[in-house]
Amino acid sequence: MTHPDVVIVGAGITGCATALAMADAGASVEVIEGYRPAAMASGWTLAGVRQSGRDPAELALARAAVEIWQTLDARLGAPTGYRQGGNLRLARTEAEAGIIRALVTSQSKAGLAMELLDGQAARQIAPALSEGILLASWCPSDGHADPVATVEGFRRAAERSGVRFRTGLKVTAVTTVKTRAGTQFVSLATAEGPIAAGRCLLAAGVQTNALLDGLGLRIPITLPMVSVFQTVPLPMCLGPVIGVANADLAVRQQIDGRFRFTGGAEHTGAQLDLSGEEPAVHPQAASLARTVSLVSGVLPMMSQAPIARIWGGLLDLTPDALPVLDRAPGIDGLFVAAGFSGHGFGIGPAVGQAMATLVLDGVPDIPLDAFAFERFADPGGTKVPAALTLHG
Ligand SMILES: Cc1cc2nc3c(=O)[nH]c(=O)nc-3n(C[C@H](O)[C@H](O)[C@H](O)COP(=O)(O)OP(=O)(O)OC[C@H]3O[C@@H](n4cnc5c(N)ncnc54)[C@H](O)[C@@H]3O)c2cc1C
Repeated sequence: MTHPDVVIVGAGITGCATALAMADAGASVEVIEGYRPAAMASGWTLAGVRQSGRDPAELALARAAVEIWQTLDARLGAPTGYRQGGNLRLARTEAEAGIIRALVTSQSKAGLAMELLDGQAARQIAPALSEGILLASWCPSDGHADPVATVEGFRRAAERSGVRFRTGLKVTAVTTVKTRAGTQFVSLATAEGPIAAGRCLLAAGVQTNALLDGLGLRIPITLPMVSVFQTVPLPMCLGPVIGVANADLAVRQQIDGRFRFTGGAEHTGAQLDLSGEEPAVHPQAASLARTVSLVSGVLPMMSQAPIARIWGGLLDLTPDALPVLDRAPGIDGLFVAAGFSGHGFGIGPAVGQAMATLVLDGVPDIPLDAFAFERFADPGGTKVPAALTLHG
């Protein structure tokens, strides 16, 4: 029986984008997904495609991703809903104004085209904004997309390129063998028997540690919860994604007119509920109330908006709010792309390209040193969480 060159666990944007890039590079690939594509973070997401507010270490990936997003519909042969409507990050108080000014200064120095706008100029871009907004950063090259359509687009394009998707199949363990050279990846354990492959990429989002645990490995992630609301379709009136200086709110209007808004990352103890057909996270009532109050503060019209759906999402938050994009330490043939800390959607297409190159023994165009697995091995070397741990 022939085995694929690579098996990927997880059909979120990371797994699907990597699968397509690998297939296009000539590899045979299987993707194993416990539910369906975009069943977790890639479906829960706000789906902002943002370079502004990124850690400098992530900026190159974010910029490369925006390049890819420009032509992604054509590449996938499917609409992703991508719109380059810009990103406004708002200051609601004098203290937040200081944060926004510093953000514009530092990111402009890093080469990102950003502007500082007073409240009136921000309202010219987004007339629905509250009169109380003091100022805003403006990054016109940021944008947003439809997350489920994007992941489906990647999946279908990958299938056309020969990738096999096995959905509704959970991986229960990663099997390795000791060799003279060390430890080698062998196969994945599933209810349908072992799936052997030359190499394996774990792109299992908030569940990645459940698979690493059995190997004595762990990414030090916490799993804060975020509340998400979606309105019914409303008349189009908001082009950019709106964020705020302290990251406790993000809102955008989808191309179908629905507003989607999220609260801040909250350590409420909310768990992933895997008892039903779909994975779910249940936001607490107090978190929902906070989010409605925050969104109404910046977009007063939202207080009257008819809500169609509410859900919760978990972030895979690392100590420095940067992902792990690396080989699994000490295990030949095993790779990890996880810990995106609430901002892995926008960079997904570039991460897919970089991980495909790494797994297939190439040297990624964008250096991945900042995303090394072992940077957390030395607690003294771990950075303090980034001040702007954004999920918008
Ligand atoms: C509320 C919220 C808002 C966000 N907003 C933004 C934003 O505006 N912009 C942005 O860039 N990012 C945002 N993010 C983050 C972004 O959505 C994620 O970083 C990104 O979607 C992660 O994609 P992924 O493919 O790595 O993981 P996921 O999409 O979580 O995919 C992992 C997949 O692995 C599968 N899986 C897990 N374990 C197993 C197993 N054992 N066997 C088989 N399958 C398994 C899961 O079912 C899942 O489908 C947000 C996240 C949340 C929760």
